[in-house]
Amino acid sequence: MISLVVPVFNESARIEQNLLSILASMEGVNISCELIVVDDGSQDDSVQAIERAMQRDERIHLLEFTRNFGKEAAVYAGLEHASGSAVIVMDSDLQHPPDLIPEMIQAWKNGAMVVEGVKRDRGDRGRSRLMAKLFYGMYRRFSGFDIEGHSDFKLLDRQVLDLYLQMPERYRFFRGLVNWLGVESHVLYFDVPEREAVGSRWQFVGLIRYAINNITAFSTIPLALVTFMGSLTVLFGFLLGAITLYQKWVGTAAEGFTTLNILLLILGGAIMISLGIIGHYVGHVYVELKSRPLYVVRPRRKP
Ligand code: UDP
Ligand code: MG
Repeated sequence: MISLVVPVFNESARIEQNLLSILASMEGVNISCELIVVDDGSQDDSVQAIERAMQRDERIHLLEFTRNFGKEAAVYAGLEHASGSAVIVMDSDLQHPPDLIPEMIQAWKNGAMVVEGVKRDRGDRGRSRLMAKLFYGMYRRFSGFDIEGHSDFKLLDRQVLDLYLQMPERYRFFRGLVNWLGVESHVLYFDVPEREAVGSRWQFVGLIRYAINNITAFSTIPLALVTFMGSLTVLFGFLLGAITLYQKWVGTAAEGFTTLNILLLILGGAIMISLGIIGHYVGHVYVELKSRPLYVVRPRRKP
């Protein structure tokens, strides 16, 4: 059996139709499937829409979060509940084209352990395209892994899925972690269609936070940068110190108020940035240490 995992957040407008389209793509595939839909705390009528789809097709199962825990948590929950011998993760807005599913499964049957959907065109332009370029560039430089164009549209064999689930960390970046495992993957390219109805479910600030967290979850280079920045400041300090001493010696020691001001500002800024970077990692250690569950499924009264 194949498990399909789909995270959903405020998608009521099209979700019923989309789930049925995803299942329709399994028609020609000679293998049974389950569709695990994870509602990530939608505030609209997504749950009702999913329940309507469930009445029309009993292969659909619903996991309902108590609140919005984020896409990564939703994907993780779906993966934990999957029982298939392979699992496919995909978005609910059809930006991961269901037509590709039979091809993915075929590649898996031919022996691939990971089948990776890679975007031929990101399907967005302007600011978000620039941001994505910046993120993938920094990610590559800091972590050493190149995942540009990679998406969460993936098929994992059961063995790879178990490896993934065994990783103990709380903060999870699905794309990055699967790549980190290093299991050879079969790549399938796809075009990202325009999103129908309403725009992306991500907020700008949320995306920036996501990018920073993903980079720091895979690299400690920013910490080394703190040391580097400190060394540079010290070097600069020595230079300026020498100049000041010389001026005092020849008796031309000016007021030096400007220099002092600038130095104070630069140093203060550098120290605060450094503390911020270190604090960010300490914060991550704190979150990992608490080891709270990644998500909470809405409790239901037993009938
Ligand atoms: N999503 C989610 N929780 C969130 C944000 C998004 O489960 O907090 C889901 C969303 O319903 C969709 C998928 O994640 O199925 C991708 O979201 P979206 O299409 O908004 O992202 P983009 O296409 O811009 O990457
Ligand atoms: Mg989308």
